[in-house]
Formats: sequence, structure tokens, C-alpha cells
Amino acid sequence: MMNRKLLVAGNWKMHGSLAFVDEMMSALRQSLPDQPKYDVAVFPVYIHLYEVINNKPDSVLCGAQNLSEYDNGAVTGEVSAEMLQDLGCDMVLVGHSERRIKNNESNSEVAKKFAQALKFNLTPILCVGESSVQRQGDQTFDVVWDQINTVIEHIGMESLSQGVIAYEPVWAIGTGETASAEQAQEVHQFIRSQLALNDDTIARRIRILYGGSCKGSNAYELFSMPDVDGGLIGGASLTAKDFMAICQQA
Ligand code: PEP
Repeated sequence: MMNRKLLVAGNWKMHGSLAFVDEMMSALRQSLPDQPKYDVAVFPVYIHLYEVINNKPDSVLCGAQNLSEYDNGAVTGEVSAEMLQDLGCDMVLVGHSERRIKNNESNSEVAKKFAQALKFNLTPILCVGESSVQRQGDQTFDVVWDQINTVIEHIGMESLSQGVIAYEPVWAIGTGETASAEQAQEVHQFIRSQLALNDDTIARRIRILYGGSCKGSNAYELFSMPDVDGGLIGGASLTAKDFMAICQQA
């Protein structure tokens, strides 16, 4: 079995302030080991990125929650991959379900953003997941594979493997309802086995995070699953105490 380093990623969504950033960074500096055996990343809103990058402990990676699918140019109100790289970002979320739903982001737009991130050396985290209606209709595997396969068709397996996948069932995001460790494992295993049909080495190498009401009390069970390589954390990444409780399970 390939040794995959776990990643604990905090998606702050549209929360925070400059004071919040400074507080979180000093709390993480005090609580995190100098060289954790897992990766840690935080994803603030655009306008707080610079403050995070300038104040974070060296071991913490920083990412944006979104990026433009276009190169620099006449695209009012958007932020490019080149700008994120210039600022010092390491990663970027693409296709978070809140953007797929509220901003109508399609699979092909998400694939373009994934490619754009790679073009500027940012590690994209591709968020995928089914709604509760889709789960009830037995469409989970189809929906999730369609979301991933659109990226593969756009840029190929080798490029996909330079990113991270986050399985985030929409019904579990911000609802307090977590997928059981077995439900998460079932989908993670499905994703990995589908990828293995294309390329076994890549399938074993790529990290697949779980997201959806992950917290200190359930992180250990989730992270113990053989195909779960860490978590994308929303609500529980908003206090250092809650976030550290999850990191300690990694
Ligand atoms: C998320 O937004 O990526 C997420 C997983 O949120 P929460 O942990 O709050 O469910």
C-alpha cells in the first residue's frame, strides 16, 4: 500500500476578519508541532490571503477558495491563478458544492479551473459529492465519477494526479450530519478503483479527503479508513481548538 500523507484542510468559507486571521495564526503557531507528520492547510477569503501568508507558521499551507478559469485580463471581479501564485498561495479549492449550487459552476468550468491552477503551480483540491436526492436515487457513484471524469477528459490522468480530490457529500456539508466512516470509505474506494482502471499507480498515489461535518469526535474513525487521506473541514476549522482537535487525529 502506498504511503499517503494525510492532509487536514480548513475551509473558512465567507467567515473571518483580519483580527480572526491573526488570532488563528498565533494559535496554530503555538499548537501545531514544528514538523507535523500530516499536511495542514487553511483557505481564507481572497482579501485575507495576504495576512495569512505573512503570519502563518511555515508548516501551514495556504489556499484560495476559488479562482478564475481565465488568464489575467478583462475579467472584472475575478482573481487569476497567476495572482494567487504571485501572492504565495500553495493550493486552491475548485468545485466546492456551494459554488456548484449557488454560482452554477458546471463540471466543465470546474475542469478549466483545475487546469488553470496547475498551470501556475497551485495544487487544486477538486471537490465532488452527491446531493441527498441523488444518494436516495442511487446516483452517488455516477455523479461523483462524472465530476472527476470531466477533469480527466479535459487534462488527463497525470494532471489530475497533481491535485487532491475531496469527497464531500452535499447532504453532510454544514448540516451536522456526517457520512459514517463506512459510507465515506465506500465512495473513496469507488473513486480509487475507478481511477485504477486508468492508472493503478496514480490511483494509489492520489489523496482523497473526506468533507462534511467532520469534527474532533469523528475524525479518527474517518481518517482510519484505508482510502480516506484526511479531511476538508468547514465549521470545525473556525476555532483553533476545534481545528486542532481534528489535526490531532491525523
Ligand atoms: C466544507 O465546506 O467543505 C465542509 C466540509 O463544511 P462542514 O465541515 O462545515 O460540513
